[in-house]
Amino acid sequence: MDMIDPFGRTISYLRVSVTDRCDFRCTYCMAEDMAFLPKKDLLSLEELDRLCTVFIEKGVRKLRLTGGEPLVRKNIMHLVRQLSRHLKSGALEELTLTTNGSQLSRFAAELADCGVERINVSLDTLDADKFHAITRWGHLGKVMAGIDAAQAAGLKIKLNAVALKDFNDAELPEMMRWAHGRGMDLTVIETMPMGEIDTDRTDQYLPLSLLRASLERQFTLSDIPYKTGGPARYVHVAETGGRLGFITPMTHNFCESCNRVRLTCTGTLYMCLGQEDAADLRAPLRASEGNELVADAIDEAIGRKPKGHDFIIDRRTSRPSVSRHMSVTGG
Ligand code: SAM
Repeated sequence: MDMIDPFGRTISYLRVSVTDRCDFRCTYCMAEDMAFLPKKDLLSLEELDRLCTVFIEKGVRKLRLTGGEPLVRKNIMHLVRQLSRHLKSGALEELTLTTNGSQLSRFAAELADCGVERINVSLDTLDADKFHAITRWGHLGKVMAGIDAAQAAGLKIKLNAVALKDFNDAELPEMMRWAHGRGMDLTVIETMPMGEIDTDRTDQYLPLSLLRASLERQFTLSDIPYKTGGPARYVHVAETGGRLGFITPMTHNFCESCNRVRLTCTGTLYMCLGQEDAADLRAPLRASEGNELVADAIDEAIGRKPKGHDFIIDRRTSRPSVSRHMSVTGG
């Protein structure tokens, strides 16, 4: 039985935040001094595998590991290897992950060996000093080495960059040329008001309609129907021959085609990135060795998936629309 929500949307995509911890502290994502979920509340890798398997049995066809930084979770490749059995059986169409790239040199070959074909790498600048400033703890050289390793292992890469006013807006044409020159798509994302950070988001927020207008002064962008199952709208860039995606949670709501739910590392299921409502799956998972209780809890949760999100960033709204950080539910 497919999972169908009250608005007739089929849920076929599960994103799993395997840890809320990260080896970076990107300024728009986290405060420098973050309180993380207590380790004792974490699901084990076996429990995460069991939950993912229930979702796959209920119709999930695409599964993305995210975080926090998924590749800093201890023994994460054990989970990837376990989940890859669903690729082999044909139950799952795609197993992928979103990463900051810092650990890719170590894991790229094994990811490819597990049947991962495409990954998203988050990268907001190609300037080493700016990279260190925005990530607080990151080193660009390590990420570049990770991208090289991933490409050498045959993984297709999509780069994700959060568009930040007066930080990387002027650099995005160069980033796009670089990404397309290396055969990578680039997607730009509007910053979302999730979790308290140390800075004012109003100063960082750049509506992508403005970015697109500015890019169109230099490049010929044509809308294309290309889709990867996510909310990005793509254009073809005549001058580079590559694809540029726009994810616009602030200026354009794309919830009508939402096909996803998000599981945290403590077994909490969020039916919408931009809403607080959630369902606890850890208790029903642990209450029985069979999967009936957890399957019922998933059905109940899908039955209250909301129509959409409603993010606001302006000077009158000082509190974030959603109190949890992106690292809890995964970007
Ligand atoms: N650590 C991994 C990574 O860096 O890709 C996965 C988790 S990270 C939270 C996923 C994505 O969310 C990254 O591309 C990050 O830039 C983005 N992100 C974090 N906070 C955001 C915010 N407030 N608004 C928009 N994107 C955000």
